[in-house]
Amino acid sequence: MIRITAIFVLLPALLIGAAVVSAQDRTLPSVKRRTDGRTANNPDTDWRKHMAGVCRADSEPVGARVLRDYGSIFAADRSVTPPPVCVFSSEREVSDFQASVKTRTENIGGVNIELQAAAMDALSAAISQAAERGLRISPRGGAIAGKRSFGDTLRLWNSRFIPALNYWVARGRIKKKVADAARKMPVIEQTEQVLAWESEGLFFSTGKDRSILTSVAATGTSQHLSMLALDVAEFGNSSVRRILNDNGWYQTVADDSPHFTYLGWADADLPNRGLRLVARGGFSYWVPEL
Ligand SMILES: [Zn+2]
Repeated sequence: MIRITAIFVLLPALLIGAAVVSAQDRTLPSVKRRTDGRTANNPDTDWRKHMAGVCRADSEPVGARVLRDYGSIFAADRSVTPPPVCVFSSEREVSDFQASVKTRTENIGGVNIELQAAAMDALSAAISQAAERGLRISPRGGAIAGKRSFGDTLRLWNSRFIPALNYWVARGRIKKKVADAARKMPVIEQTEQVLAWESEGLFFSTGKDRSILTSVAATGTSQHLSMLALDVAEFGNSSVRRILNDNGWYQTVADDSPHFTYLGWADADLPNRGLRLVARGGFSYWVPEL
């Protein structure tokens, strides 16, 4: 009788366990997993609902691009806080969000990097594991490799937007009056205007041959605003990438190879989080399955 009772108690527990641990994970016990039972608190539908709620991809072209290009961040495990909006629209909105989450600052390679605490914990573990193997993991491009302010993203956007706008005005492709109005637009409207011009072949990248979004995030959309991203100097080293991946850090923005995002999950879990792996130029990126 005791044995039968044990089966009735244990069997459902085993079935629940099997449901939350993917088959691939169970065959890879050596992979360091960071899910720690968080799966139960973070069902797949949670982040999809959140993502769809904040980005309204069906009606807003900018929302659709943010989701496609940077949407993986919404799949991060709930030890961290994903962005509460699709596009931050002001410095105040960014600083309020940044002040509302638990963060930790570490000096990495002589640069102070501030990230959400769980993301920094995972990064510190990766740095220690790399050091054991004689490898370094360090920020690329100074302190903005980690946290950015709204003003940082505005400056980066304007470094591409303003010269390209002047370029197309000088060539008579955009009227000066229209360009001047675009300069004064709120960020989302301005990004929509640029995407509309680009759909007519007037590109805003540095070389005027590709979308501005291939070289810079739209103002207020960078994953760095959420303190869940780090640009890594050693991104070209496959052992470094593996160590970062084993600690929940992944490349998630196609073609932005130095850029890593904290997702927390083991890579075997990522397809269950709505992400798919794409190979580009020798790198592998986890992007949203849309
Ligand atoms: Zn980056």
